[in-house]
Amino acid sequence: MKSVVILGTGGTIAGTGHDPQKSWQYRAAQLSVSQLVDAVPELAGVPLETVQVAQIDSKDMSWSVWRSLGQALQAHLAREDVAGVVITHGTDTLEETAYLLHRLLDGRKPVVLTAAMRPATAPDADGPANLRDAVRVVQEAARRGLGGVVAVLHRRIWAGGQVRKAHSCALDAFDAGGHPPLARLDEQGLWHEAITPWPASGKAGWLPLATEPPRVEIIHSHADADGWMVQAALAHARQHGPLKGLVLAGTGHGTLHQGLEAALTQAVAQGVAVWRSSRVARGGVNSREGDVFVACGELTPAQARVALMLYLLGV
Ligand code: ASP
Repeated sequence: MKSVVILGTGGTIAGTGHDPQKSWQYRAAQLSVSQLVDAVPELAGVPLETVQVAQIDSKDMSWSVWRSLGQALQAHLAREDVAGVVITHGTDTLEETAYLLHRLLDGRKPVVLTAAMRPATAPDADGPANLRDAVRVVQEAARRGLGGVVAVLHRRIWAGGQVRKAHSCALDAFDAGGHPPLARLDEQGLWHEAITPWPASGKAGWLPLATEPPRVEIIHSHADADGWMVQAALAHARQHGPLKGLVLAGTGHGTLHQGLEAALTQAVAQGVAVWRSSRVARGGVNSREGDVFVACGELTPAQARVALMLYLLGV
């Protein structure tokens, strides 16, 4: 039987608190990934390897952690004796990492991200079941010859390119912008349904992560959004280094305040790429004739930022 490699990056799944009754008071990223595995009796006897790639609260995710994760994935996915990889992650930026990996990986083996909404010390900790399920999904996907990036959370399998956090505190915290999960798992974390189609990976390769990241920021449209933030960003960039891109988190279907529109038009004239997403959770943004700002489809603003960075890196 081939091994499943579990790459730990921290998050609430590895979090601990002093008072189990106050599960919202805890510190993320306290337990090692091997401690997480030891806490799941159903994983005893399963051929597993653990690697601690990072130990962070995922609110602090960075390009350099992504680079380390990419290096670990590249090394372990190339091994003949490895069926696939699980990544334990924080929920806060899981959608960014999942989308990035979905764009980069070649999709030959399964890569499953998992996380938890409750720390390991909470009486209703969801991490152990999510980790067990993630390992079982890697094994089952490998058995079915399926590869690519998915997230396994709360007994659902979500497409890596679509998954996003949709609730700040519920156990059932993720969705795919209105799309259904790829499949549901039973109480034992077993998956019986067919998935058609299994999401195709972007296959961009690892080179982008070896490069310095282009600076891309997110700007929101809202009442009184008069472009002040854009002007501030452009002025700051003149002093401290180039601003390469801006992602608009627009109102509705990617619309924006007229003051902000004037400032973003000026940014485009100065060579900044401006892409348009929506602050609304579902529906996305389609392109319109004569668009100056590129429409980002169904990507969240944070995913659109990753997409724009990859675009600026030539992907
Ligand atoms: N702040 C935590 C993190 O993203 C939240 C979580 O994991 O649920 O690491």
